[in-house]
Amino acid sequence: MATLSDGAVAELQSSMVGNVSRSGEINYDEAVSIWNGAITRRPAIVASCANSDDVVAALAFAQREGLEVSIRGGGHNYAGYALCDDGVMIDLTPMSSVSVDVETRRAKCGGGTTWGAFDAATQSHGLAVTGGFISHTGVAGLTLGGGVGWLSRMVGLSSDNLVGAQVVTADGRVVHASESENPELLWALRGGGGNFGVVTEFEFALYPVGPMVHLAMFLFSPEQGGELFRFARDFVKGLPDECGVFLAGLSAPPAPFVAEELHFTPVYALLLAGFGDADAHAELIAPIRETLSPLVEMITPIPYVNLQQMFDESAPWGLHSYEKALYLTDISDGAIEAILEHQAKKMSPLSFTPIFVMGGAYRRFDGETTAFGGRRDVGYVFNISATALAPEDYDAERAWVRAYWSALVEHAEGVGSYVNFMTEYEEDRVRSAYGSKYDRLENVKGVFDPKNVFHLNVNIPPKS
Ligand SMILES: Cc1cc2nc3c(=O)[nH]c(=O)nc-3n(C[C@H](O)[C@H](O)[C@H](O)COP(=O)(O)OP(=O)(O)OC[C@H]3O[C@@H](n4cnc5c(N)ncnc54)[C@H](O)[C@@H]3O)c2cc1C
Repeated sequence: MATLSDGAVAELQSSMVGNVSRSGEINYDEAVSIWNGAITRRPAIVASCANSDDVVAALAFAQREGLEVSIRGGGHNYAGYALCDDGVMIDLTPMSSVSVDVETRRAKCGGGTTWGAFDAATQSHGLAVTGGFISHTGVAGLTLGGGVGWLSRMVGLSSDNLVGAQVVTADGRVVHASESENPELLWALRGGGGNFGVVTEFEFALYPVGPMVHLAMFLFSPEQGGELFRFARDFVKGLPDECGVFLAGLSAPPAPFVAEELHFTPVYALLLAGFGDADAHAELIAPIRETLSPLVEMITPIPYVNLQQMFDESAPWGLHSYEKALYLTDISDGAIEAILEHQAKKMSPLSFTPIFVMGGAYRRFDGETTAFGGRRDVGYVFNISATALAPEDYDAERAWVRAYWSALVEHAEGVGSYVNFMTEYEEDRVRSAYGSKYDRLENVKGVFDPKNVFHLNVNIPPKS
């Protein structure tokens, strides 16, 4: 590692409003703790940026000193791309303010905002856009890779609703991207990941949502899994867009509505979030109650912000985690067999298999208007996610994910998958995910980052 002089670091600090830290200094440990504890890279410098000028200064410093650059939004990425070894981490945590324009139904937020902060600000006006299922995830990484959430079926992905962005490019320019300014950059930011620059501000279109919405959660025994999936694959096809749907294989939560003897035991779940009125929601879920015999049911109105935080405790920070996903057009009988076999081998109570039911508005968005690396005709994003309770269990948990994925991929739409659910960079899977968009992304990369400064991501190198 090149030795950094105290003078060079002091000069960087004097040119920034935000804080610069090295190992052992205030803020460093906090900034380098990311969600996935399995990632141990350590930057030489953390530049916690308060504004775009700080980002420009940090980038210039990194390039002057010949150091690698990583960007931290919410720090949630399984691959831990927010961290670099011995380089400069551009930490956007201080840039987390959210402003809402109720008239135009638009919201702007800083590049380090979490969905929790974003939802709180927009919901105070009864507005929302699709965010993730866990509120401590960053708006930045989630949106740049796509953004699947409860509202995807109603209004599309987070990235489908990204209408503008302020970006610091690799050569230190501050540019704006919208339909009228740098439209090709906006296109690439809608799903092409953190490849094109540091996004210091996001602007989203918003929709009236809540503040109260309707939740239905049903839990089923492992023995009921086959029946549940065969029922669900037909049932979800008839649901309106105003209904978010989620299937999962998980351990029953130690919640008051779950009988104590079921706590932490393996179950399957079917969850529905209704964004219409209460009667419509009750009518929608009636067939579930009539056809299946759930072990547990919990049906309740719930504030949208609470719906968005409902799984937060199931995804604690700092543990060792690994995930691998794929796209399923349908849940075939063969897929059900593979699911039942491998779900039964789940070990850690925190490991689970979230199955995002797509369709609705997600499907209707014209695939070409965004760079999102996913087919719009698929029915499900199937994610196999393991979290080890102790570091020494990590290898076994990862082996479980890989074996499960290998069995299921035979029933999937090829090897490509949602790029935000890739713990490892596998070039064939990235190319397969983006398909014919890959070439266009390479061209945008060549314009905005020809030297591939921003490569700690699901990387799309510029054409050589
Ligand atoms: C517990 C958990 C739950 C999740 N749930 C969902 C879900 O419901 N739906 C979903 O779609 N995804 C979900 N994800 C995946 C999530 O979308 C990705 O992990 C995403 O990368 C997280 O973004 P971040 O900003 O928090 O992460 P970071 O690790 O900070 O960044 C991720 C990537 O984005 C780049 N980046 C970050 N900020 C910027 C920026 N401002 N400008 C340019 N590049 C930037 C980074 O360099 C890195 O490559 C979940 C992940 C976890 C761990």
